[in-house]
Amino acid sequence: MNELYRKAPVGIFFMNKDFVVNFANQAMCKMFGKESPAEIEGKNLFSLLPGLEGDFIHQLYEKVIGTGESFVDKELPVNFIRNGKAEVAYYNILIEPVRNDRNEIIGIVNVSLELTEQVVNRKRLEESQHRLDLAIEANKLGIWEFDLLSNTSVRSARYDEIFGYENGAPSWWSREDFVRHIMEEDLPTYKAAFEQARERGDMEAEVRIITAHGTMKWIGIRGVILKDDDGIPVKAIGITVDVTERKRQETQKDEFISIVSHELKTPITSVKAYTQILQRELSKLGDPKISLMFDRMDKQLNKLTGIIYDLLDVTHMEGGKVRYNHTEFSFNDLLDEIISEIQVGIHTHTIQAVKQGKDRIYADRERISQVLVNLITNAIKYSPKSSEIIIRTYPSETVLLCGVQDFGFGISDEMKTKLFEKFYRVHNSQHSTVSGLGLGLYITREILKRQNGRIWVNSVLGEGSEFVFELPLTTSEEIST
Ligand code: ADP
Repeated sequence: MNELYRKAPVGIFFMNKDFVVNFANQAMCKMFGKESPAEIEGKNLFSLLPGLEGDFIHQLYEKVIGTGESFVDKELPVNFIRNGKAEVAYYNILIEPVRNDRNEIIGIVNVSLELTEQVVNRKRLEESQHRLDLAIEANKLGIWEFDLLSNTSVRSARYDEIFGYENGAPSWWSREDFVRHIMEEDLPTYKAAFEQARERGDMEAEVRIITAHGTMKWIGIRGVILKDDDGIPVKAIGITVDVTERKRQETQKDEFISIVSHELKTPITSVKAYTQILQRELSKLGDPKISLMFDRMDKQLNKLTGIIYDLLDVTHMEGGKVRYNHTEFSFNDLLDEIISEIQVGIHTHTIQAVKQGKDRIYADRERISQVLVNLITNAIKYSPKSSEIIIRTYPSETVLLCGVQDFGFGISDEMKTKLFEKFYRVHNSQHSTVSGLGLGLYITREILKRQNGRIWVNSVLGEGSEFVFELPLTTSEEIST
């Protein structure tokens, strides 16, 4: 029997009324931080575990000895000084009084199962869940999970609230119910994001909804689609957040930019016209200083006009007001034209063209020249210490593939996608020496997107960049029309 106690997987020890331990099994030794029962037996409990004296557990022992009533508890925290270190350990515990033949209490048996690891892990999990809940609440995130097979959903209260169901949306709320709230104009955006998620796994979209109260809201959706082993989409999980206020501010800002750039366009055009007249008149005086000043003025005016037109372009693009006049033309001819135009005014760089691709495209020639000018001027701006710029078209049967390469600053991986965002500029000591609004690449991407093209960048920081864009080549139907 004694042997059985010794080997039992739960800690067992017996002590007399003076807290001298008479028996402790192997499992108990571990809890005491000792190697063998010999180190414990015959010793006073509080000399072994000083932290216990006067502690709650000490009072418990006293109570069991005093009343004769046993004590049972789960996950009881006990303050220990174990191996010289203060710690809290958790136990499932049973304390039983031990009596002699005359029924007098002579000590107690303590049976404990240590659960510290499990409890600490669970508490950590609870804490991180709590932190997550706080973050979700602070950011007013609505959480959702759609089962794509049964077409049912689980949603947080905040999600339902965003859709105008303060007392919870109907329990059968399906993906169709959600889609029904999306405004018709934004359905294609949502559908494209969902299709992308089916292919790539993740989705991100901003769409307008009509809430249950009939009001309009902008919502941001981010989610992932999970597939089963056969690649069939089974679940969509994500967050939804009300971004109405941010959108309102953005619209206000866009309207402001639109008005200002529009108002600036007329005066700047007439200043430019008067400058040209003045220049013609004053050049008759033959003073070289005057003509130098006019050259400088002209450059600055061109810069200003460029900024105003970029701002106008952005507002027109966002309002869907840009018209594209498609014609069929030779990209190579356009490239030669643009290169010679730019090369005339630039003495710091040599622009070289390597044309290996097919070149008939059906697109807006003006806008494609804008793309080339933007990419070439950027290549010049962001490579002040090198002199070479190479423009290549690559062989392809289906698309026009064109790269504009420089050997300048280069771009870090994290910036590569951000560069194409509106007003985005890299802020570091090198880039900050170059002025700009951060609109050129945004406009470039929009132009290409509207003509079924796309753009990306290959770059190594410190070595240079190649901005590559792709446009469909002319098809035979387009040639015949
Ligand atoms: P801007 O040049 O007016 O700032 P862009 O939209 O044309 O605006 O470019 C956005 C940012 O991308 C620039 O501020 C610059 O930091 C970076 N960038 C653009 N082209 C290059 C390039 N060829 N090499 C390195 N960085 C570039």
